[in-house]
Amino acid sequence: MKMSVRKRTLMTFSSAIVKTYQTDILIIGGGSAGSTAAIAASQGEHRVTLVERYGFPGGTSTQMLDTFYGFFTPSESPKKIVGGIPDRIVNELNKSGDIFLRPNTYGAGTGVNYNPEKLKQVWDKLLLQSGVELFYHSTLVDVESAGETSNCIFFNKGMGFFSILAKRIIDASGDADYCHWADIPYEKAGEKDAAQSMTTTFRMSNVEHNEYDAAGGKKMLKEKMAKAYAKGSHPLPRKEGSAHEMCQPKCISTVAVKVIDLDPLDVEGITKAEIEGRRQAFIFEDFFRAEVPGYQNAKIIGLSNQIGVRETRRVFGEYRLTKEDCMSAKTFDNQIFLCGAPIEDHRKSDNGSSETFWEYVPNGGAYGVPYGTIVPKESMNTWVVGRCFSATHDAHASCRSMAQTMSMGQAAGLAAILSLDTDLDAKNIDVQKLQDSLVRSGAVLEMPINVADISRNGWANN
Ligand SMILES: Cc1cc2nc3c(=O)[nH]c(=O)nc-3n(C[C@H](O)[C@H](O)[C@H](O)COP(=O)(O)OP(=O)(O)OC[C@H]3O[C@@H](n4cnc5c(N)ncnc54)[C@H](O)[C@@H]3O)c2cc1C
Repeated sequence: MKMSVRKRTLMTFSSAIVKTYQTDILIIGGGSAGSTAAIAASQGEHRVTLVERYGFPGGTSTQMLDTFYGFFTPSESPKKIVGGIPDRIVNELNKSGDIFLRPNTYGAGTGVNYNPEKLKQVWDKLLLQSGVELFYHSTLVDVESAGETSNCIFFNKGMGFFSILAKRIIDASGDADYCHWADIPYEKAGEKDAAQSMTTTFRMSNVEHNEYDAAGGKKMLKEKMAKAYAKGSHPLPRKEGSAHEMCQPKCISTVAVKVIDLDPLDVEGITKAEIEGRRQAFIFEDFFRAEVPGYQNAKIIGLSNQIGVRETRRVFGEYRLTKEDCMSAKTFDNQIFLCGAPIEDHRKSDNGSSETFWEYVPNGGAYGVPYGTIVPKESMNTWVVGRCFSATHDAHASCRSMAQTMSMGQAAGLAAILSLDTDLDAKNIDVQKLQDSLVRSGAVLEMPINVADISRNGWANN
C-alpha cells in the first residue's frame, strides 16, 4: 500500500519523546464514536489502541449528557434504525437499571435516558473486555506520518511526550485533531454557515417532579421561560430550553445554556465560553428556584465537565453528506448506517437571538449514510468518525446524535479490520464486505418494516 510521507514534528517534541508504542489500529478520542470504533476494531486479529485526553471514556456522552437520540425515528410510528454495538452499550446499562426510555414522537424522537456516571464504567468494561489497549489523560499534539505507518505524538502531564506508531488511524477526536495535524483538509464551522452554539449542561437535585407535572410540566416551563426572557426578570440567554428527569431520583438534567460567537478552537474563545456557560447556568438556577413549581428547594449539583461543543472541524471526505440527501431520505448502495433525526440547528437567528431551527426527514423516514463520509479525501490509512465526519453544516445538524456517532465508529472499526486483512487503502476496501460484516454485527442498513415496541421501562433490541 502506498502512503504519503510527511515530516513535520517540531524538534521540541521529537527530542522530548520518552517512549514509543506500536499498534495496528489507533483510535484518537474515546467519545461515543471512538469507543465504539475501538470495540468494533477489536473484533479482528489486530492490536487496537485508544487514546483519550480525559481520565474517562465517553466524550460528550459522559462529560455532559444523559440521553441517546437517534436509535428511533421521530414519528407516530417510530422505527428502530440502529443496532449492533450501540445495543450492547444500552443492554449493559439496562442490566443495572441505568436506563429508561422517554417515548417521543417529535423533537429528536424517543430518547434512551441513561446514568452518565454508570456509562463511564460501561465503556471502560466493554473496552477492556474487548482487549483494547487504553491510554487516558493523553492528548494528541502532533502527527508525523512516515511510510506505511503514522507516527502520532501525545502529551501526558506525568510522562511528557510519547509517540504511537500505527498502521491505521481512526480520528474520533470530535475536533478532527488528527486530520488537522496531518494536514487533511476540513471546513471549520462558522467559516460559511453560522456555527452551532455551545452549551454548559447542568444537573439539579431535590426536584419535586409530581408538583412540576401537576403545574403543567414542559408546556408550563416553556411559557415561564418565554415570559422571564421577555420581561428580563431573569436575564436568560434564550426563551426555550429543556429540563428532563434523570435516572437518579429527584434529579433533572438540562440543555438550556447557549453561548454564541466564540471559537472553541481558540484558547481565548474557549476560556471565555467556559466562564460564560457557568454564569448562565446559575442564572437558570435562580430562575428555576423562583419561578418553576417543584424547583423551590432544588440546587445545581453538577455542571458538564466542559462546555458542550456541537461542531468545529468537518473533514472533507470521499463523500460529503448534504441537506438534500437528508431531506429526500436518500439511500445509497454503499450506506453504512441510517439516520432519521431532524436537522436540529442551534444557532444565532437574524435578530441576534439564539434559537433552535428544526427540519424533519419527510414522513418519519430515514436516510442512508454512505461509506465515503467517514473516509477523508486525502488520506489512505485514516477514517474520521463522530462529529467531525464529512457533511455540510445542515446535514451535520441532523446526523450528530449519539446513535449515529456510535454507528460511524462501528463502521470505521470494521473497515479498519478489512483494510488490514486485505492490505487495501481505506477508500479501496470492498464496501459490500463491510456491509456484510456490519449486518453480522447487528447494524441496521435498511429501513425496518416493523414499528418499534417502545415502552418507558423496556429496551427493545429490534
Ligand atoms: C450540548 C450538546 C447537547 C447534545 N445533546 C444530545 C442529546 O441529547 N442526545 C444525542 O444523542 N446527541 C446530543 N448531542 C450530540 C452528540 O452528543 C455529539 O454529536 C456526539 O456525542 C459526538 O460524539 P463524538 O464521539 O464524535 O465526539 P466527542 O463526544 O466530543 O468525543 C471526542 C473525544 O475525543 C477526545 N479528544 C479530543 N481531542 C483529543 C486529542 N487531541 N487527543 C486525545 N483525545 C482527544 C475528547 O476528550 C472526547 O472524549 C449534543 C451535543 C452537545 C454539544
